[in-house]
Amino acid sequence: VLRNSLSSSVQVHSSLPHPATSGPFALFGRGLYSASPPQMQPLSFRLYQVMSASQRADIQAAALKKQTGVSLKHLLDFGTQPLERQMLLSARFLHSEIPIRLAHRLMDLNHLPPGLSEEPHVRRVKGWYAASFADFRSFPPIKDNMDVVRFTAMLKNAFRRHNNVVPAIAKGVEEYKRDLERKGESSQERESEIQHFLDTFFLSRIAIRFLAGHHISMFEPPRPDHIGLVHTRCSPYQIAFDAVSEARAICFREYGGAPQVTVLGNTGLTMAYVPSHLHHMVFELVKNSLRAVQERYSESDLESPPIQVVVAEGLEDVTIKVSDQGGGIPRSGLQRIWTYLYTTARSPLPDVDIDSTNMPAVLAGYGCGLPLSRLYARYFGGDLQMISMEGYGTDAYLHLARLGNDEEPLPGSV
Ligand code: ADP
Ligand code: MG
Repeated sequence: VLRNSLSSSVQVHSSLPHPATSGPFALFGRGLYSASPPQMQPLSFRLYQVMSASQRADIQAAALKKQTGVSLKHLLDFGTQPLERQMLLSARFLHSEIPIRLAHRLMDLNHLPPGLSEEPHVRRVKGWYAASFADFRSFPPIKDNMDVVRFTAMLKNAFRRHNNVVPAIAKGVEEYKRDLERKGESSQERESEIQHFLDTFFLSRIAIRFLAGHHISMFEPPRPDHIGLVHTRCSPYQIAFDAVSEARAICFREYGGAPQVTVLGNTGLTMAYVPSHLHHMVFELVKNSLRAVQERYSESDLESPPIQVVVAEGLEDVTIKVSDQGGGIPRSGLQRIWTYLYTTARSPLPDVDIDSTNMPAVLAGYGCGLPLSRLYARYFGGDLQMISMEGYGTDAYLHLARLGNDEEPLPGSV
């Protein structure tokens, strides 16, 4: 379904320029980007409210423009040799594309039910989007490589501004639901609308952050076998192994113990993928399994059965399966695991400070682990499925498409 619905974005690729063939990319060597970025100037939502009519009209007009999809294949071809000209073209592309995507999200945020759209955390998020939109719009046309350096600093600053969007939105939705309950209204009928909004919103966020992060990383010292954020010889086994260690450490911290996890598969298998995305997904799945097994066996005299992570190599996909004997998920709950905020753990959100730079890593409780992981998988043409046997355990299947010509899924296609 996802792939079919992407065909509409095929023709637009011509607007992302093809690899330049001019001289080496000499300007952006090591250290250049360490020059400190301009001082951060946060634009509050109040400022958004007092925006001039012309600025608002600008956002509305930008939101009517079509977003331009970028295939990963294109980015890889484009980035095989970091050339000065490529950076210029990449900066120009982002300079026009990112504000369009930001404007789409701003309009979506404004069209939410008023109780949610005006919720203070959601307003904060609108303020961040409006501030970044203004940054892009006030940036003059990019003419030369010094402009590219300045543009990239601005981009980095905007990237940081949006760091805590996920917990801020989660907290906003949580408050909104609580408010409806207080008023005796049911949030049920709003649920599918909000779910659709969040899927769109977070997929778009993944996309913007990937494109921005990819551009920014091309300025950083070159890393072997990397093209921007993409590791061309990424080892799923190694990433799974590292994600398991990290998840077990958190489990130890919270429970004073952690079930064993075995990782099986071809240790030599490599594929082109974005390691941070893969890490994120496996980390979330393993944390869920650890929690389920730990809770089920904490009172028992029996030793907890190990969790198994299997990395399978196919021609089309690499699939990672995470199997546990943590008791499974009741069939009636299986639909709800894909909704944001559905969690059977205590929510850490009331304690979360969205102004702090680092959100605390917790074993569970945000409720976004599964739906966000599925978006990460789908962004590159993969998918995530959960199969449960209530009373026994759960299998999570994470399918990763071997990166190729899949078009970038744009919001609305999830
Ligand atoms: P969180 O872990 O923050 O609760 P998730 O989206 O990761 O959010 O998971 C949502 C819910 O789905 C969990 O709270 C849990 O009830 C259920 N779940 C997910 N994975 C498993 C699993 N492996 N075994 C049992 N229940 C699970
Ligand atoms: Mg989780």
